[in-house]
Amino acid sequence: MAKPKVATTSLCGCFGCHMSILDIDERILKLVELIDFDKSPINDIKKFTGRCAVGLIEGGCANEENVRVLQDFRKHCDILVSLGDCAINGGIPAMRNNIPLKECLAEAYINGPTVHNPSGKIPNDSEIPLLLNRVYPCHEVVKIDYHLPGCPPPADTIWEALVALLSNKPLELPYELIKYD
Ligand code: SF4
Repeated sequence: MAKPKVATTSLCGCFGCHMSILDIDERILKLVELIDFDKSPINDIKKFTGRCAVGLIEGGCANEENVRVLQDFRKHCDILVSLGDCAINGGIPAMRNNIPLKECLAEAYINGPTVHNPSGKIPNDSEIPLLLNRVYPCHEVVKIDYHLPGCPPPADTIWEALVALLSNKPLELPYELIKYD
């Protein structure tokens, strides 16, 4: 029987949540008995190969590419999980949300104390994804079915959640696994 597929992605995140997935240690052997990884940085599959049971999303949406990828995940996954604080509330990247985008770009490319940019130009190549006016949590862009808090969420939380979702069991994680502090 075909195993359910799980896809993962990192939008505006630091890959720490993916490190936490790998932190399930030897249980990863059990995991690959239960599932096949589809599109994911873990196996470097770049495009969906079929319908996925679960999509794990790290990071929020900071640019138009993040939005496109997130919408693609919503289209291909039965259950979508915001994995970690950046996906849930924007995290550290969302600290720019109180500053106009123009000022952020000027600080990054012109005025910053370590910037050397004699041309004074801000990169504007069509190959570079356009930054959004602010960083959006995933649930403000597409419907998200579950949120797993933490920076990153502990490996035990990810393990318990994945096993429950793949066994069609209710996701009832104990407080110790989902507290924010
Ligand atoms: S929640 Fe923390 S570990 Fe996960 S992507 Fe954001 S900063 Fe990195």
